[in-house]
Amino acid sequence: MTTTQPVALVTGASSGIGRAAALALVEAGFEVVGTGRKTSQVTPLDGVTFLDLDVTSDASVTALVQQVTDRFGRIDVLVNNAGIGSTGAAEESSLAQDRRVFDINVFGLIRMTKAVLPHMRAQGRGRIINTSSIYGFIPQPYMAVYVASKHAVEGYSESLDHEVREHGVRILLVEPGATNTAFEGNIVQPDRPLPVYAEQRHIADRLVAEAVRGGDAPAVVAKAIVAAATDPTPK
Ligand code: NDP
Repeated sequence: MTTTQPVALVTGASSGIGRAAALALVEAGFEVVGTGRKTSQVTPLDGVTFLDLDVTSDASVTALVQQVTDRFGRIDVLVNNAGIGSTGAAEESSLAQDRRVFDINVFGLIRMTKAVLPHMRAQGRGRIINTSSIYGFIPQPYMAVYVASKHAVEGYSESLDHEVREHGVRILLVEPGATNTAFEGNIVQPDRPLPVYAEQRHIADRLVAEAVRGGDAPAVVAKAIVAAATDPTPK
C-alpha cells in the first residue's frame, strides 16, 4: 500500500526530543512512525505508529525499514535521533563503553541511513535529519567520546548531503543545546563533574537561553526538526 500522506520515521521517539518531534511532525501533516527499543512500554501518541528498533542491530534495522515500506510504501523523512551520552575522564571509560556510544550515535545513524537511502534515491526525493548537538562543532572536556561521536555525525552528514543532493535527497543537521529530557539520566558515567570552558559556556548559554525563551525545550528542538523536514529550500 502507498499512502498519499508523506511519511516520517523518527528513531528514539520513546522520549525527549524524538517524542516531541514525532508529535510535531503529526501536527505538520506527516504519517509518523516512531521507534524505541520497547515500544510496548511507551505511552501512545495520537497519529504515531510505534515500532521496535535497536539501531545497534543490523537485523532490527532491516526489519523495521521493511515493515515501514510494506505498510506505507514510502519514506519521505528519516529523523536519526536515537542517541546516548557519555561523560568522564577519557582514560576511565572502558573501550566497550566508548564503542557503545559510537555504535548508537554514529553507526546506528549510518545503519539507518544505508537502509533508507536506496528507497529515497528510488523515490527521487527524501530528507534525512540527523540530531547532532552543539557538541558537533565545539569541544567539551570530560565528554570527549560523546563530542567525537557528534563531530562524526556532522562530517558524515555534510559529506553525504553533497553526495545525494543530485538525487533529490538532502541530509540535514539539527544541533540542540542543553535540552530538558531524560538524556542526562541515561549517560555513561554520570557521576563526573563537568568543567566547562568560559567560551563554550557562552555558546551553550546562548542556545539554552533561546530554547527557554521558546517554551518547552524538546518542543523547540522539534520545531527545528519540522522546519528541516518541510522547508522548501533548505540550505
Ligand atoms: P532521551 O534519552 O530522552 O532519548 C534517547 C532516545 O534514544 C530514546 O528514545 C531511546 O529509546 C533511544 N535509544 C537509545 N539507545 C537506542 C538504541 N540502541 N536503539 C534505538 N534507540 C535507542 O534523550 P534526548 O531526547 O535528549 O536525545 C535525543 C538526541 O538528542 C540524542 O541523539 C542526543 O545526543 C541529542 N541531544 C540531546 C541534548 C540534550 O541536552 N538532551 C542536547 C543535544 C543533542 P529507548 O531507550 O526506548 O530504546
